Amino acid sequence: MSTFKFSSNNDKANSVKKRIGLLTSGGDSSGMNAVVRSIVRVAISRGCEPYAIYEGYEGLVQGGNMIKKFEWSDVRGYLSVGGTLIRTARCQSFREHKGRLQAAHNLIKNGIDALIVCGGDGTLTGADTLRSEWPSLLKELVQTGKLTEEEVAPHTYLTIVGIVCSIDNDMALTDITIGAVTSLHRICEAVDSISSTAFSHSRAFVIEVMGRHCGWLALMAAISSGADYVFIPERPPEAEKWKKEMCDTIEKQREAGKRNTIIIVAEGAIDDNLEPIKADDIRKLLVDAKIDTRVTTLGHIQRGGRPCAYDRNLATLQGVEAVEAVLRATPDTSSPMISVRENKFVCEPLMKAVELTHQVAEAIAEKNFRRAMELRDPEFNEGYEAYLSTTFMKDKATSQGNHSLKIGIIHIGAPAGGMNAATRAAVRVAINHGHKPIAIHNGFAGLLQENVHELSWLDVDDWTSKGGSELGTTKAEADDLELIACQLQKQGINALLFIGGFEAYSSLIKLSKARNKYPAFCIPMVCIPATISNNVPGTEFSLGSDTSLNAIVDSCDVIKQSASASRRRVFVVEVHGGNCGYLAVMAGLAVGATNVYAPEYGLSLKILQEDVNHFVRRYGADKKRTSSGRLILRNESVSNTYTTDVIANIMQTEGQGLYDSRTSILGHIQQGGSPSPMDRIRAKTFAVKCVHFLEKHAHFSDPSEKTKLPEVYTKDPESAAVIGITGAQIVCTPVSKLELETEFDKRKSKKAWWLNVKPLVELLSKWGYSDNEPIEQL
Ligand code: ADP
Repeated sequence: MSTFKFSSNNDKANSVKKRIGLLTSGGDSSGMNAVVRSIVRVAISRGCEPYAIYEGYEGLVQGGNMIKKFEWSDVRGYLSVGGTLIRTARCQSFREHKGRLQAAHNLIKNGIDALIVCGGDGTLTGADTLRSEWPSLLKELVQTGKLTEEEVAPHTYLTIVGIVCSIDNDMALTDITIGAVTSLHRICEAVDSISSTAFSHSRAFVIEVMGRHCGWLALMAAISSGADYVFIPERPPEAEKWKKEMCDTIEKQREAGKRNTIIIVAEGAIDDNLEPIKADDIRKLLVDAKIDTRVTTLGHIQRGGRPCAYDRNLATLQGVEAVEAVLRATPDTSSPMISVRENKFVCEPLMKAVELTHQVAEAIAEKNFRRAMELRDPEFNEGYEAYLSTTFMKDKATSQGNHSLKIGIIHIGAPAGGMNAATRAAVRVAINHGHKPIAIHNGFAGLLQENVHELSWLDVDDWTSKGGSELGTTKAEADDLELIACQLQKQGINALLFIGGFEAYSSLIKLSKARNKYPAFCIPMVCIPATISNNVPGTEFSLGSDTSLNAIVDSCDVIKQSASASRRRVFVVEVHGGNCGYLAVMAGLAVGATNVYAPEYGLSLKILQEDVNHFVRRYGADKKRTSSGRLILRNESVSNTYTTDVIANIMQTEGQGLYDSRTSILGHIQQGGSPSPMDRIRAKTFAVKCVHFLEKHAHFSDPSEKTKLPEVYTKDPESAAVIGITGAQIVCTPVSKLELETEFDKRKSKKAWWLNVKPLVELLSKWGYSDNEPIEQL
C-alpha cells in the first residue's frame, strides 16, 4: 500500500499565471472533492485562476454557467464529502468531433488552456484526444468564424494533467487510485457485519464486489476481512477443478468446527476458460453441498461516501502535484498522469498508462493470466500469495529442512489496530510451515507467570477484524532479564515475535544486548511496530497508525460540524502521539485544520498570535455569519506551557468577541475500534515476512557435534530486527542499526518523512494575505 511523499518542487515550476479548468468525470469516487479543494486552493496560492467545469465533459460542451470561476471559499467543507460536488456525467457528444469542437470553443471563450481532469481511463483518453486535436480545432473555429485569430492566438497549446479517481484501483503505472481505499472501508464494514450473522446461523455468504477487469478490491477485501475464498479475474481457477476444490475446502473447514464462511467474488471473476463465475453459481454449489448459503451484492454502497483519511490525503497531495505539473508544462511535454510509484508522486505519460491498463483486459481475454498479474503492481502479487498462505491450511506442513520452531508471540505496549490481524497471519503461516506458534499473554508479566499456550489455526480465525489485543498487552518493557531468559528456556521458545510500540522495540534491544549473558536470547527476534503514534524507528508506518488517523478524522468531522453550526467557533483538539507529531499533522491535512501544533515544529506565543490574527480577520470579514467552524490540532506533548486549555483561553480572549473557542481531548478513542483495512493488510504482509525472517535467522546446531549450545543459537546482530515499510519496500532492519536513528529520550525515530506536510496544511486552510489587504477582500 502506498505512502505519501510530497515531492513537489516549486522552484522548477514557472510562474505564468494561468486559468486552470478542472473537472471530475466518469464514475464518482470518494476523494474527488478533496482533489477539487486542493487544486482550487493551490492554484489560487500560485497566482492562478481555477475554473470548475460542472458535470465533466458535459459542462465543457455546454459551456455557459457550467464553467465557473472558483474562489477560495467555494470549496469550503469539501474535504469530508463523498462523491463529487462539481458533479459528473457520461457525455456522448464529447466522444464526437462536434462535441470537442464546442468544448474547445468554450475553453477559449473562458481563457482556459490548461485542464486537470479527474476520472478513469475514459476521462483521461478523452482529455488527451482534445489535446491532440487542439490546433486543428482552433483552426476550424477560426475558419468557421466562431473565434477570431486574436482570440485563439494566446492559446497555442492545451495542457492536460490527469488524476486517476477510481474505486477499482485499475490504472497501470500507479500503485493506488483515489477512492479505492474508501471503497475498501465500506466493503470491510459490510463483510464484518455479514460475518457475525454468518457465524450466528452457521451460514456461508457469497459477497460480490465491484471490479470487472480488476480484482484489487476483491483481493484486498478478502485479505482484510479474512475471507475463506476469493475469485478474481487475474487469477482464474482451473475450470475443471475449482468447484470440487472449493466445496471440499469449505466442507473440511466446517468439519474442523468453523461456523461461518465468507467467499468474495469480483464481478468480473472467470475461470481459466473465461467462463464467468457468478455469485449465484457459487451459492448453488454450496447449497448442493448442504451448506446454508446466501448471496449479497454490495453494489453502489462501494462508491464510498465520506472519504477515509488515506483518500483525503492522497487526493490533496495529488491535487498539489497536478497544479505544479500544469505550471511546468511546455508544448513539448506529453500529457502527464499524476501517479504514486515507489511511494513517491511522479508524472507518468497519461496515454501509456491508459494503454497498459487496457492490456490487462486483453491479456485476460487471451488467457495470458501471467501477463495480467505482471501488469498489476508487485503488492498485488505479494498480497495474493500472503492471502493463500494464511487462508488455506496445508494437509502437510512444509517445514524448513525438517526444523520446527517454537515461535513465541507477545504484544507489548498500548493496543493498536492490526495487532490481532498480525498475530493471526503469523500463527497460520507458522503452522503451515511446521512451526508451533505460542501465545504469550499479557506481555512479559504473563511470561513470568507462565501464562503461555499454543495457538491453533481456528483459535485465531476471526482475529483479522478484532481491535485491541486478544493476547493481552501491557506497557511494561522487558525488565527482569534473568527471569525472562529462564522462562523462554523453560517454555522452549526459540524464536520471538514482538508486536507493539516503542516498548516492544526497547525490549527487543534489551534482549539482544544481553545475548552474551543469556543464551536464551540467542534466538531470532523480530518486532512488528504496532502503535498509533507511529514513532518506532525502522518504518514509515506502524500498525494502528491508519486506524487511529481514521478515528481522529471521524471525531474531527463531528467536531467541525458542531463548530460550523455555531458559526463562529474554534476548536482546539488534542491528539495522541507522544513526542511524535505524525497523527496531528496527517489528521490535520485530512480534516482541513487551520494549524497543527506538534513537537517537531515547536510552539510559541508568536505562532499563537499569528493564528489569532488569522481567526480575527476571517471571522471579522464574515459579516453574514456564514463562516464555518475551524480546528486546531494540538499534539499532547507539544508544550507544557501552552496546554490545550491555555490555548483555547488565549484564542477566546484575543478573539475580540468575534468567535469563541472550545477544547476537545480525544483520548483513547484514538485507538479506534476495528482496525482499518490498511492496517489489516499491512499486518498480514508484516507477519508473513516476519515468519520468513525468523526461519532465515534460526541457525540450528548440529546434534552430532554434541555442543552444549541450545538447538537454535544465533548472536548475529542481523537476527534481531524491526520490520517496516521504507519507501516501496518491506524490510527488516537490525536494531543495532536502528539505535543510531533513535531519539531514546523522546521515544521516537530521528526520521520523519511527513515533516514537509505541515506547511501544506497551513497553505490549504489559510488564504495567504498581506496585512495591508482590506479585510473585505478576504
Ligand atoms: P471513466 O473515466 O471512469 O473511465 P468513462 O469511460 O465513462 O469513465 O469516460 C468518461 C467520459 O470521458 C465519457 O462520458 C466521455 O465523455 C469521455 N470519453 C471516454 N472515452 C473517450 C474517448 N475515447 N474519446 C473522447 N471522450 C471519451
